[in-house]
Amino acid sequence: MSNEQLTLLGDEAVALGAIHAGISAAYGYPGTPSTEILEYLIAEYEKGGPANAAPVARWCSNEKTALEAALGVSFAGRRAIVTMKHVGLNVASDPFINGALLAIKGGLVIAVADDPGMHSSQNEQDSRFYAGFAMIPCLEPRNQQEAYTMTREAFELSERFQVPVMLRLVTRLSHARAAITVRDAVPQKPVSKTEERSRWMLLPAFARTNYAALIEKQNDFQVWATTHPANTLELPGSEVNSGGAANGSMANNGRYDLAVITSGLGGNYYEENIADFIAMRGGKAPARLHIGAYPLPLESIRALCAAAEKVLVIEEGQPFIEEKLRGLLPQPVAIAGKLAGLDGGSGPVVRTGELDPDNVRHALGLPPRPSVIDALSGISEGNSQGDFTSGKITRPPQLCQGCPHGDSYETIKKAVAAIDGRPNHPDVGINSDIGCYSLGAAPPYAVPESIVCMGASVGMAKGAADAGLKYSIAVIGDSTFIHSGIAGLIDAAAADIPMTLIILDNSIVAMTGCQETMIPSENLRKLILGCGVKPERLLELEAKKQLVDENTARLKAEIEHRGLSVVIFKRECLEAFRKRRK
Ligand code: SF4
Repeated sequence: MSNEQLTLLGDEAVALGAIHAGISAAYGYPGTPSTEILEYLIAEYEKGGPANAAPVARWCSNEKTALEAALGVSFAGRRAIVTMKHVGLNVASDPFINGALLAIKGGLVIAVADDPGMHSSQNEQDSRFYAGFAMIPCLEPRNQQEAYTMTREAFELSERFQVPVMLRLVTRLSHARAAITVRDAVPQKPVSKTEERSRWMLLPAFARTNYAALIEKQNDFQVWATTHPANTLELPGSEVNSGGAANGSMANNGRYDLAVITSGLGGNYYEENIADFIAMRGGKAPARLHIGAYPLPLESIRALCAAAEKVLVIEEGQPFIEEKLRGLLPQPVAIAGKLAGLDGGSGPVVRTGELDPDNVRHALGLPPRPSVIDALSGISEGNSQGDFTSGKITRPPQLCQGCPHGDSYETIKKAVAAIDGRPNHPDVGINSDIGCYSLGAAPPYAVPESIVCMGASVGMAKGAADAGLKYSIAVIGDSTFIHSGIAGLIDAAAADIPMTLIILDNSIVAMTGCQETMIPSENLRKLILGCGVKPERLLELEAKKQLVDENTARLKAEIEHRGLSVVIFKRECLEAFRKRRK
């Protein structure tokens, strides 16, 4: 095993790093681009099973329950990892922020995959802000090897400082494959429950002490970050030079004319362009700091910026470092990045979407690479350069041919038209949710009128009904309903709100690759009745093309009912059906 070479996705490197760090359990909720971490761990668990001491790995109802389960593992003295996408951390934010105040016993790592560029997400939020908010350390790997080694390190760190540790990933790292070298695994820890009861009870009297303890740890985190090998300070031509760059760019006043701060994948893109950049600058290498371990290494930042007249920040995600710098540095140091340029104008680094070698090249003031110029010159006039360079796909994704959601949307569309045939049907509001069925927002269906976050459709439909909208509808998938829609249904049932909840039950978590739902379809009915829905107002329909007309009449009656109705459209996802047959 020692020094074995494997080719893995970034997500798989995290999963294997966690196994080799001796985890006893892994939990998560599927969400692109994080899904493959837990899929790898579940596959290992199913292969090895408890008999072979493979770590337990399970999907959970949502990210909050996943993180709470991991806290329980840590309480019992064993190591655990939790996986989620960036918006999942919003759901888990309660145990996440409060977990930072606990005296973590078994190492606890929260692997969060951000999605700059919104390939499959509703926003670009940057999880480093959450780590800063909770005041816990964060590691940001820049390649698959670091994804593996930093995962292992994160567990050591978590136990050393008795705090949860965040591992921040991004789409390009999670979903790209590279060769990595792995080391021997460490064994799992025995069960050994925490003895520090007061450090695990956030009653006000204890919480105050625990919060003070967390504040005290900040100095230790700072020392750790400043000396961390992922935080590399390069001052070319000076003695403080861990990067080996030659020909420093010292101005006559003894300061560098420019310093560059990079983080995560931004460091790789910078390095792809560094030779051209130095050549453009007449052979002068700028000073540089790469950051891969947080909190920000303040001493290194101050040393860098004291030695430089200007600073350019290249980071993947939101301007986390740049914003902190603006409050940290004395006025004479000009800062450029996503927020502003060195001349005070707009920033040279793209503010939205992903970094890539070409837009980093542009930020450095370099001309486009010849290959890009050649490609651009072949574009017809009608196709803008912006669209080409951003790699936008002009044709939106569609539901699979024959998807059951298509028949459900056809039914909803007809029922709504039969109730209110006016343009934009002003008496009807249709709130949808996150899942494959979000694609029903595009033509030819164009049914949903809002899509906000997991579970929001139910609460929004309730609010719209309370506001007086006559026909208020929520459309949600079975898995999203279990994730967080169910609490909204309990609220609606308690007040018998005049609204219709439509559950599209395809018996699977389809969008993220067909993970099993937490509750089998046959139990959904009992669950809904248990929330207080009247049996006569719970309708189950088969989502089939040949039943569209019949279903339309039955759905219309429920929408017109002046109280709460739940209508379940049932049919298995085609992709899940294919996988099951294989
Ligand atoms: S994966 Fe399944 S649910 Fe998603 S669009 Fe395809 S058939 Fe429909």
